[in-house]
Amino acid sequence: MTPEQMKNVTAYFQGRFVPLAEANINVMTHAFNYGTGVFEGIRGYWNRDTREMYLFRLREHYERFLQNTGFLKMKLPYSAQDLCDISVELVRKNGFDENVYLRPLAYKTACQIGTKLSPGEDVTIFAVPMGDYVDTTRSLAACVSTWRRLEDNAIPARGKICGGYVNSALAATEARDNGYDEAIMLNEAGKVSEGAAMNMFMVRHGKLVTTPVYSNILEGITRSTVVEIAANELGIETEYRQIDRSELYIADEIFFCGTGAQIAGIGSVDRREVGDGDTGPITAKLQAIYSDVVQGRLSEYSKWLTPCSAPVAAAVVAAAH
Ligand code: PMP
Repeated sequence: MTPEQMKNVTAYFQGRFVPLAEANINVMTHAFNYGTGVFEGIRGYWNRDTREMYLFRLREHYERFLQNTGFLKMKLPYSAQDLCDISVELVRKNGFDENVYLRPLAYKTACQIGTKLSPGEDVTIFAVPMGDYVDTTRSLAACVSTWRRLEDNAIPARGKICGGYVNSALAATEARDNGYDEAIMLNEAGKVSEGAAMNMFMVRHGKLVTTPVYSNILEGITRSTVVEIAANELGIETEYRQIDRSELYIADEIFFCGTGAQIAGIGSVDRREVGDGDTGPITAKLQAIYSDVVQGRLSEYSKWLTPCSAPVAAAVVAAAH
């Protein structure tokens, strides 16, 4: 985003709503030097028919966010409800009429040399328009990365910790440099973990299989959404178990899922076709259902949607001015 565009976007920063161009931190900030922040990615889906923005599984994202701040011993003066309210207000202030992506970030603020976690943290949230993060209109070419997924006792992948995303950046960049769309990462045991910034499922014998929480994955909210809609809408159960690299080569279907990635079919792994190379039939059905769910077209899942047109608590708005 250019500095000029940033002037027209509002961010939440240091307890106030300010132009994104003014939401800046000092270069000595601990999080900038050592990656000591935790973050979230939340999507807002704009429904053109109802002219409503729906934030998807907002509460669950902030519950995970607050849990993860504990890894870095942060104590934030916000509840999950406060953060939900601020997010809704942020979307309203920006007046978006297209799909958006929200990035809440809790970061260590101390301006000091030294890695120790000293007191001092803050939360910022910004939102930017975002369409597809990966192309969901075609199947993706994936490779198995030469970079291994972070081990839990190095930097916990489930923590969504800023510094840990160097691991993702290395894998995603290597994949693109080598002509692939995305990377699949193995853990140190040589078993499939997840994508660089997304979880992964495969279909075998009509069943969904995904890697378990102990395979160094982020416990994805889209992953749990997929499990629920597959069971409810398609009657397909999910098996949680380790996946071997070689099993990727013989899977009937494979797909990535995540807030950014949504549901994205994988057409090949290491240049070996998955199924017939197109997005598989179960993946395609899940994509269609997911799209209906996030746009508010399936009322039984409205529990997951936060519409942004309703006014939020006056106290939150007042506190932010
Ligand atoms: N794994 C990693 C490493 C991620 O960064 C993400 C994106 N947040 C995911 C999985 C998917 O998680 P979610 O569905 O909660 O966005």
